[in-house]
Parts: sequence; structure tokens; C-alpha cells
Amino acid sequence: MSGDYSGIREERRHTETFNDWGGSSLTAAEKFPAGCLGRADRVFSQGLQCQQINSVMALLSMEDAAFVVHSPLGCSGCCSMANDWFRVGQMHRGDFSMRNARIVVTNIDERDVILGGEEKLKKAVLTAYERYKPKIIFIFTSCASAIIGDDAESVAENLRGTVDSLIVPLRCEGFKSKICASGYDAAFLSITKYILADAPKKPTEPDMLNLFAPPTVSFADQLEIERILSDIGIRANYIPFYSSLEKIRAIPAARASTAICKVFADEFMKELKERYGIPYSHTIMPVGTRNTTKWLLGIAELFGKTEEARAYIERETEAVRPLLDDLKKRLGGKRVFITGGTGRTFAAAALIDDFGMKLVGMQTPTYDNDAQIDVEYLNAVHGGFVIDVANMMPFEQVNLLNKLKPDVFIGVPIWAAKLGFPTTHILDIKRPTLGFRNLAYLGNKIAAQIENPGYNKNIAAHSSLPYKKSWYGEDAFKYIKDE
Ligand code: SF4
Repeated sequence: MSGDYSGIREERRHTETFNDWGGSSLTAAEKFPAGCLGRADRVFSQGLQCQQINSVMALLSMEDAAFVVHSPLGCSGCCSMANDWFRVGQMHRGDFSMRNARIVVTNIDERDVILGGEEKLKKAVLTAYERYKPKIIFIFTSCASAIIGDDAESVAENLRGTVDSLIVPLRCEGFKSKICASGYDAAFLSITKYILADAPKKPTEPDMLNLFAPPTVSFADQLEIERILSDIGIRANYIPFYSSLEKIRAIPAARASTAICKVFADEFMKELKERYGIPYSHTIMPVGTRNTTKWLLGIAELFGKTEEARAYIERETEAVRPLLDDLKKRLGGKRVFITGGTGRTFAAAALIDDFGMKLVGMQTPTYDNDAQIDVEYLNAVHGGFVIDVANMMPFEQVNLLNKLKPDVFIGVPIWAAKLGFPTTHILDIKRPTLGFRNLAYLGNKIAAQIENPGYNKNIAAHSSLPYKKSWYGEDAFKYIKDE
């Protein structure tokens, strides 16, 4: 984003990003800094997560917005999941009307692919405007609209003056990147170009922090993070999740920026620094005492509050210590496999240190400079463990689970549950995970799963995965080939 960043994570110049790799964490940590990790690709690949869903999820809860998805109907399937999150989030925030997100899909079909879909897009934007009168209309592009060359930007430009909503097109077609976090960048690129545009630096509000939050943060976690910040005198401008055009326009007035997830808004924060001189802290996700401490100190330094933060952290850590000691008795030594988004996976891996657990394997969508820092730390705590760098790829996950036989699996549980492993989520939109006080909830959840394994055992007894037995004896990384 800063300068000429294209929004495609694979093309970032300041870091090499790998998304097809598998092996020991010790090997990864040794080879990556030397530039020898090796470019590879999968010769067999299951479906990847599309970046469009990340763009949609990042913005869907903005209160004064409507959304046009310029795609065949299938691409908009992800909107129903994002809408479910949005509805649950409203309820947690005390709004029991639980309205649906305002989405219009152009439903590109064969005819549009031949004759072009711009007219349909224009109609969809007008429909969204007439139905909802939003302050802002986001247009999400798709593979189909990009392949046929529909010009969403021109459609938006030509409608300026016809509707008084701000129209913001996003280039989030899935084929552009294998790294789904590129979809977050597409959202922030468009915010920069169409909302902040030539916005001048506003007078700085000395206590305000731009707090960029990904859509997977529950309301309980938002409250916990805002509590922690406010306890040391910092006010969060929480964006873009459950925010508004006004909150986005307030971004240039902040004294500093940070993100809850390490791969969320990282490029955007660089842009804000270049454009407005707003410093930022880019450390780690605040999951567990070690990470929350690191995360908070990074912010406190930017506000000149380091000593105050240190004293506060000591008090908070002491307050949760008895609960952690109790959880250690239940979880100490348990072997764990973790998977999730890049930021979440590494943060969770550090978290299990709070519970005295042993990391045996992880699946992460990417490996880059930030991952290297975390892997070096995790190697020091846990010794070697298996890393599968994969955007999804359940066939590799089940192979590894069968070999590693962890006591518990943390991540999207579908396949691990069918193998009978105790499973739990981390950074679940519906449950607490972050900061100091939500730590015990998460630990209890993990312990409860291990102590009550019957449900997943039953699932395993009555369902099967689509792989031959022979696959479990093969090398999990058999289909990753060096380029
Ligand atoms: S935008 Fe492309 S990758 Fe994403 S769901 Fe549609 S066809 Fe698939």
C-alpha cells in the first residue's frame, strides 16, 4: 500500500512470502533468513480461501454501508457466513433487531460474460442506493468480472452525482493472490483511494489510537481490548468492524495506529505513517499473557506510557495467575496441533505456553518475516514442530493429525473432529479469546474438550473422510514440489 503496493501479498518487496511449504520448524527457521526456504508449488491442491471473502468480511458490519457483489451467485456464498457473524455481533452488542447486511449481487451469467456486465453493475448500485440510502456503497469485484474486463471504477465514477452515496470499488478478484489476506489489503487500498483520498491531516487527538480489528474478533474481545487500553488512558477508534464512515474519516486524527491481528492493516498502517506521519505498533496478536504484554507495550511506547503500562500489566497478570495455575494442572504437557489464519495461528501457539502445553504441529497460510520471528520464539519454547504452510489443504492436515496424534486440535474443527480428536476454536467470533481476562475462558474451553471427548468420538464413529487408508501412510507434503 505504501508507495506502489499492488495489494497482492506475494508481490511485497520488503518480505518474501511463502504459501506452499512443509517440514520442520527448525529447518524453516534456519533456511528462511538465508533465503533458502525454496520456492515450491502444490501439484495437487484442494480449494483455497478466496480473498473476496476477506474483503467482504472486513467491511460488512459497517453500519451506514451497502454492498454490491459483482460476481456470479456462487462467489457471494461467503456473504451468508459473514452475514451470520454480523447478525450475532449485533446481538452481542445489544441490538436484537439483528438485521441482515445490505447486499446486492449482480449474478453475472453466461450472457454477461459475452456482452459485459457493467450495465448490470450500474443497476445493482442504483438498487442498493434506492433500497437502503446508505452513506457508502462498496463494490466487490470477482474473477468473472475481472476476466471480462468490467470497469467497476468507471461505473462508480459515472454514478457520482446520480447518487449521493460514496461509491467505493474494491479489486478483490480471487485469482489475483493465493494469500487470502490480500483481500484485507484490497479493502484498505480502496479506503485510502476513495475515502481518505486527499483528506488532510486532522488535528491530532492525543489519546486516540486507530485500532484495526479483523472480523473474527468477538464483542467480548473488543470490550476487553478497549478496557485494557482505556485503563492506561488510550481511546480506541475501533475500525472497520462495526464502525462507520465517520470513524474511518477520523483515522487521520489518531496519535498512533495498531492492529489486533498481525496480518490485518499492516500495509495500511505504513501508508498512514507516510501520508500523515502517524506512527504504528506492529507486534503480535494479544492472545495470552506474553503476547498481550508485548502488544500493549508496543502501543504504550507510542503514547509515552511505558512505565504506566508495565505496572498495569503486572497487576493484570497477577490477577489471572491463580486461574492459569489451575489450568496448567489440567493442560500441562498436553500435545497440541494449531491451525488458523497466519496471525492467529502463531499467537495461539504462544498462548499454549501459558497453559504449559506442547506444540507438535501447525498449519498456517503463509510464512514470512513476521512468521520467522514467531517461529524462532516457538522453537526456543517447544523445540521442533511440524509446519504446514497451506491455505486450507485439509488432506495434508488429516495426514499430519494421524501421524502426530495430538491430545487436542485448535482451529476449524471439521476434519479433526471426524478423526475423533478433541477440538476447539481460537478467536471465535462468538466467544472470548483476547487480553488478560478472556484467557481463562479459552483455557477452560480447551480443557473441557480434552476432559469430555465423547462428542467427537461419536462423530468419528459415524462419519468418514474421503481419503484412502494408504494416504495416511504417505508423506503429507508429497504434492509440494520445488519450482
Ligand atoms: S472471486 Fe474467484 S476465487 Fe473467489 S469465489 Fe469467485 S470465482 Fe472463486
